[in-house]
Amino acid sequence: TLGRLAEQAWERFDDYDSLFFEGRWHRSQELAGRARRVAGGLAGLGVQPGDRVVVMMANCPEVAITYQALWRAGAAITPVVFLVSPEELRHILLDSGAGIVVTTSEVIPTVRTAADGLGVRIVAVGGTADGVLPYDDLEQADELPLIDRDEQDLAALMYTGGTTGRAKGVMLTHAGLYEASLASREAGSVPGLTRALVPLPLSHAFGLIVTLVGMQSQEARTSVLMRWFDAKEWIRLAAEHRIQLAPLVPAMINLLLAEPSFGATPLPDLRYVTSGAAPLPRESLEEFERRVPGAQILEGYGMTETSAVSVVNRPGARKVGSVGRPLPGYRITIRDEQGGELPAGRDGEICIRSRCLMKGYWRAEEATASAVVDGELRTGDIGHLDEDGHLFIVDRKKDLIIRGGFNVFPRDVEDALMEHPEVTMAGVVGRPDPRSGEEVVAFVSLAPDARVTPDELIAWTRARIGRIKYPREVHVIDAVPVTSVFKTDRKRLRRMLAEPPR
Ligand code: ATP
Ligand code: MG
Repeated sequence: TLGRLAEQAWERFDDYDSLFFEGRWHRSQELAGRARRVAGGLAGLGVQPGDRVVVMMANCPEVAITYQALWRAGAAITPVVFLVSPEELRHILLDSGAGIVVTTSEVIPTVRTAADGLGVRIVAVGGTADGVLPYDDLEQADELPLIDRDEQDLAALMYTGGTTGRAKGVMLTHAGLYEASLASREAGSVPGLTRALVPLPLSHAFGLIVTLVGMQSQEARTSVLMRWFDAKEWIRLAAEHRIQLAPLVPAMINLLLAEPSFGATPLPDLRYVTSGAAPLPRESLEEFERRVPGAQILEGYGMTETSAVSVVNRPGARKVGSVGRPLPGYRITIRDEQGGELPAGRDGEICIRSRCLMKGYWRAEEATASAVVDGELRTGDIGHLDEDGHLFIVDRKKDLIIRGGFNVFPRDVEDALMEHPEVTMAGVVGRPDPRSGEEVVAFVSLAPDARVTPDELIAWTRARIGRIKYPREVHVIDAVPVTSVFKTDRKRLRRMLAEPPR
């Protein structure tokens, strides 16, 4: 067998316009040729099969090229969002043992600080700084023939979102990612729909699977890639390129909805939006579809540990409020605290069995053993299946607030707050409380001309979700903080509670 992921790239197909980025089309054969040469360049730098190489860039074609080049060279990708702090990057460098960071010139200072004293080589797109190897030099190398990989070899050491704690290194294999991308493709392709707009960071699990499925391995699929999400620019590109498919995360959907011109510019070609990585409020879904007639949002669910998407709503067969049904090759079981299987309709921990599961957490046997039990992943997410096998997500187990002995999931409170027309975003956490154990506290950001007061919002939610769950405190802030992959940052909200604003 050949290296599986490297095998399914651009070069399998006749030449076609594959990627549009900042004003220019890139042909598939051009991208393939560049990847073969970059693979040679990386091998020239000493990259060996099995090595981990950090790829830390805002989106650009070189991200996809470098992934492909590393797979070709037998190495594993370690994608990192370019926004991480030097401390976070240093942790990843030490933990992964990566000896090379491929980045862009703007990020060099962060990488330098992070890598201080570690003897890490820095390669930068557009980089000319001292001691930094320009990416162009890699491309001067001779093409590297494909290095054979086994199915179980490491293809990616991906760090989790770091939403609930320190990011964990997840070992994904060639076979796992390959099969996950096939399953995603099978579930999501609609004949005739070929033009996609990709604003997701390619460094995150969702973006990675989109890279694999849409940008490298599907003939005639063209992707317009955005360096970073911007609502106005997204609208402009979607109209200009008559975009049909749009992967987004909920925070991006909400930013689009906050943009008055969204809906004014017609997007008649837009058919399917896939949303994942975080919960999508129902209001957002409905409002989006009102403003873009003909478009449908398909929610999906996945995590780094499952090679991204594992459950998804299919085109033409969706259930609003549900994240859909398992992809082929994924099985979901809902379990109680003792590990017993729960019937349809009952909430419990979502557990996933699949050949696409991670091989384990990197150098963390204990963490792996508690996450993967008898070959089944305990996701840490709570939800239920309905009679048709559609999955509904409640929230993360870790974020549960226990108030006076009652379970309160923050998402229920956030959803109720977001139903208020003047609330644009809500984040809810628990505050330790001597009387009730924990109190429900909400942070909200409001629409520009909003007049609603915190007391009115307290009354509003109380009327909707009752006297146990409603927030005792509502704080209005400019923007509810999100992580570098656009998830509500409840960790930061808890810190904000602990140290009141100066
Ligand atoms: P960490 O594990 O480091 O705390 P993380 O769990 O956010 O970070 P990812 O692997 O990127 O890192 O995210 C997977 C998680 O995202 C899932 O476990 C789930 O909690 C959440 N998630 C993904 N899709 C959805 C969705 N459609 N609705 C609600 N939550 C989702
Ligand atoms: Mg997680």
